[in-house]
Amino acid sequence: MKISVFGIGYVGLVQAAVMAEVGHDVLCMDIDAVKIAQLQRGQVRLYEPGLAELVRESLEAGRLRFTTDERAAVEHGRVAFIAVGTDSQADGSADLAGVLAVSDAIARHRRDPLVIVEKSTVPVGTGDRLQARIAKAVKDAGRSLDFEIVSNPEFLKEGSALADCRRPDRIIVGITSAHARETMRELYEPFNRNHDRMLFMDLRSAELTKYAANCMLATKISFINQMAELAEHLGADIEAVRQGIGADPRIGYHFIYPGCGYGGSCFPKDLRALIHSAGEAGCASDLLQAVEAVNARQKGKLFELVRRHFGDDLRGRTFALWGLAFKPNTDDMREAPSRDLMEALWAAGARVRAYDPEAMHEAQRLYGDDERLQLMGTPEAVLSGADALLICTEWQQFKAPDFALIARKLAAPVIIDGRNLFDPERLARYGLRYFAIGRGERL
Ligand code: NAD
Repeated sequence: MKISVFGIGYVGLVQAAVMAEVGHDVLCMDIDAVKIAQLQRGQVRLYEPGLAELVRESLEAGRLRFTTDERAAVEHGRVAFIAVGTDSQADGSADLAGVLAVSDAIARHRRDPLVIVEKSTVPVGTGDRLQARIAKAVKDAGRSLDFEIVSNPEFLKEGSALADCRRPDRIIVGITSAHARETMRELYEPFNRNHDRMLFMDLRSAELTKYAANCMLATKISFINQMAELAEHLGADIEAVRQGIGADPRIGYHFIYPGCGYGGSCFPKDLRALIHSAGEAGCASDLLQAVEAVNARQKGKLFELVRRHFGDDLRGRTFALWGLAFKPNTDDMREAPSRDLMEALWAAGARVRAYDPEAMHEAQRLYGDDERLQLMGTPEAVLSGADALLICTEWQQFKAPDFALIARKLAAPVIIDGRNLFDPERLARYGLRYFAIGRGERL
């Protein structure tokens, strides 16, 4: 099947790559000419395990192509995916400028029938809005166009995006006609063989499903973080509590890890957007607002632990930092807790020496000129003479470090861990003082 993909970020590129892998003929369009030129040469700028290889294979096979020519992309596919960004605006609502720009291009250039798929996360009602907008533009131009909007939200997780798209848990499809249902079935057939993963519903329900899923996950994180705060103040250990509640199958172990707050490109902005939508609809969103408030506090938690230990004035101090990405296996630093921490440390006069396996280039792009940040080539290199080691991301390679070396290299033997990676008793044997989330200083 011929497919066009608009917006070649994490979602667009991964979708395009797995669609091309199974044999679909995919033409990708983005307004970022530098990115497109790099992709045409097989260079993948973002880090996602296995993605660069897959893109190069499909590029060589001719099933995956890249362009900045919107007209060519509009004319190519029988299905057009809109996968552009929908970042927050100042009032918290989702910015639909990119989505609207693509739909306007479709109205301008398309003559043959088309199924338009909303892949981007968009507020409930956007599908109806696009349907009306395109119909009006086409009518105003004195033409007609046979088209339909489908909502097909994306649930991939950065870091395991390829696996998630090759074997999705579920394929949510909001439709208004039997023709769109049939087209979406044909499109997803290669990903739907083991059992039927496709869930058809109306457009608005599909749009809300995406927000509801992300808000539920964010709620789980803020819930456990609030329990962690309580545990710390009441002298309990949240790690014991986490396992205790996870053993109940109604609760389960997934997504209840305490930490230094959620970040990334989705949870924060999707929460804000749903709260905004609720306000517009005259509905309460008090639970969602509480989830946000807990998270905002939690993102300040590591700095609070630093301040508790070292005092308010951090001038002259240097902190070693492991982990810049908002989670492991990605280079994405959008709304990452590491950024809140670094910026608070700098404001208090401290310097930071940091290491991340994949996000160094992103940190360089964001803070390259800031002399208060020094990026080092290995996790060990950040340690020498630092006042403490701080941990923001649970990369595999941080989980069993050489504690004797850490104790030797740090100026003060202190680890402040935003991901609860270590056993406090073991660290005590190395003479390291260990502060984590919801555990107090357990020894
Ligand atoms: P991204 O910022 O990585 O990529 C968006 C791309 O869209 C950029 O390359 C940008 O240049 C391009 N773009 C913007 N306007 C355009 C236009 N008018 N025409 C063509 N291209 C245009 O974003 P992302 O992380 O891939 O997210 C895309 C959407 O998918 C968002 O709505 C997001 O909420 C949703 N989503 C993201 C994830 C994730 O993990 N990143 C998961 C599920 C859903």
